[in-house]
Amino acid sequence: MNNAIFNLERPENEHTLNYAPGCRERKMLNEELDRMSSEILDIPLLIGGKEVRTGKTGRVIMPHDHQHVLANFHMAGEKEVQMAIEAALKAHKEWESVSWVERVSISLKAAELISTKYRQLINAATMLGQGKSVFQAEIDSSCESIDFLKFNAYFTTEIYKEQPHSQKGIINRIEYRPLEGFVFTVTPFNFTAIASNLNMAPVVMGNTTVWKPSSTSILSNYILMKIFREAGLPDGVINFIPGSGSLIGKAALGHRSLAGIHFTGSTGVFNGIWKSVADNMSGYRSYPRIVGETGGKDFIFVHPSSDPQEVAVAIVRGAFEYQGQKCSAASRSYIPASLWPDIKTRIGEMLSTVTVGDVREFSHFMNAVIDEASFDNIMGYIEYAKKSDDAEIVYGGTGDKSKGYFVQPTVIRTKNPHFKSMEEEIFGPVMTVYVYSDNNFEDTLRICDQTSLYALTGSVFSKDREALNTACRILRYAAGNFYFNDKPSGAVVGQQPFGGARGSGTNDKSGSHLNLLRWTSPRTIKETLIPPTEFTYPYMKADKCH
Ligand code: NAD
Repeated sequence: MNNAIFNLERPENEHTLNYAPGCRERKMLNEELDRMSSEILDIPLLIGGKEVRTGKTGRVIMPHDHQHVLANFHMAGEKEVQMAIEAALKAHKEWESVSWVERVSISLKAAELISTKYRQLINAATMLGQGKSVFQAEIDSSCESIDFLKFNAYFTTEIYKEQPHSQKGIINRIEYRPLEGFVFTVTPFNFTAIASNLNMAPVVMGNTTVWKPSSTSILSNYILMKIFREAGLPDGVINFIPGSGSLIGKAALGHRSLAGIHFTGSTGVFNGIWKSVADNMSGYRSYPRIVGETGGKDFIFVHPSSDPQEVAVAIVRGAFEYQGQKCSAASRSYIPASLWPDIKTRIGEMLSTVTVGDVREFSHFMNAVIDEASFDNIMGYIEYAKKSDDAEIVYGGTGDKSKGYFVQPTVIRTKNPHFKSMEEEIFGPVMTVYVYSDNNFEDTLRICDQTSLYALTGSVFSKDREALNTACRILRYAAGNFYFNDKPSGAVVGQQPFGGARGSGTNDKSGSHLNLLRWTSPRTIKETLIPPTEFTYPYMKADKCH
């Protein structure tokens, strides 16, 4: 029995490796990329610790070379979803009583395995399967995954320390129980770290999960699963079931023991999940916790006092890194007329040096978008802008899907602040700029606030402190992650807890203790040291004065 009162220090964020020519990590990564590119993996479901093959398969391809198959993955049917739920409920019985010290130790070991033994493996899988450059893979699948695993272990201990006051004669305690039932985790394609965190956050708090990964991130997600197992995660604590979202969703959301949903993805899918929960309400044992981080239409707002070079860099990095496929990617800008010609020239000069291509050629700043549906959707927005009287293409505007799903970085300028591409999430390398007259700063801030249904991230550039304050006030509800003089992407675990409200989600702030609080159902225990032996109270006695 481990009876230690165990203190975990606040961790440091994982150091990012730079993969410069000649260094060891670059050589190891290249070997891994070659190895992975030359084999076709067969990926099973993992239910109750056992591999399950259904024979109904999907393909994992390289987005930059879509005829190249990396793996075939087995897909869950109705039967496998029920098996996964049963396995999660069975494992719950043991896992909930495992000491939290052992639980966080598994999380810390998984972090260490990613940091050392499997860093190049998980990076290579994220590069090849999800189309990330080496740097984007390193900051996501290695650094952010490690940070989530370590910081959540630390936040767990901080939560458990939080205990009520006890008065003379009584002892008060709070027991942090996991939720009663299973947590359904539904993960997006764009961050390996999110796939890890959506499962491991509930798991360190004592829950078990049924995990539906995105069909376009199966390779890295399967590797994660194997790392969790090697770190000591018991059978059935996480059950990995790739397959159709609607099929798996219907079965999992209809189950009586659904205790929570940990979702990241598009607003439309999340709205559908919420509606299903409402429709199934009378059948649940408990009210399911619904946690969802969803879409964004993230902005860069520029005050006339800004430095044009700083703004241009923020736009190029913020809008085009990972092809604009971050929920936090900048996709609309508000630029004062006095600065626009200079900023436009600088963006053009930077983008003229950007190439789009194979992730294995490290010189490319950009790579392919995730799949054909995404390519067609993005090109649809670009074609719409080309035909519109309200917009002009300032840069880019072309794409080619013959070999890979390549879209050139595209800048649209519009005269209409409510133009379609100012309002809707495109999830691709498209930045739309609205140029405002310098003396309309506050009115344009109000337009920015009221333009889109989302409120995820946004940034303001200014050298004038008063202007920053004004923007902060007017845009109070326009973003859950707000930046002064920075791009609106790149939140770091433990430093900028992440999430937005309005149509961007429930704002439960991943990368902080706030998210972990959603995965516990506390029980208060009061102990009376010497219980009373008479039921009457003093006030009931006869008054001798009268
Ligand atoms: P998506 O909504 O298409 O898919 C997300 C997941 O939901 C996938 O696993 C998918 O298979 C599953 N799914 C689809 N239909 C389902 C259903 N009916 N029932 C249950 N599950 C279902 O999103 P995506 O394309 O993978 O990711 C991009 C989206 O995610 C963007 O909108 C982006 O803004 C958002 N995102 C948000 C954050 C954030 O923190 N706010 C982070 C990353 C991504």
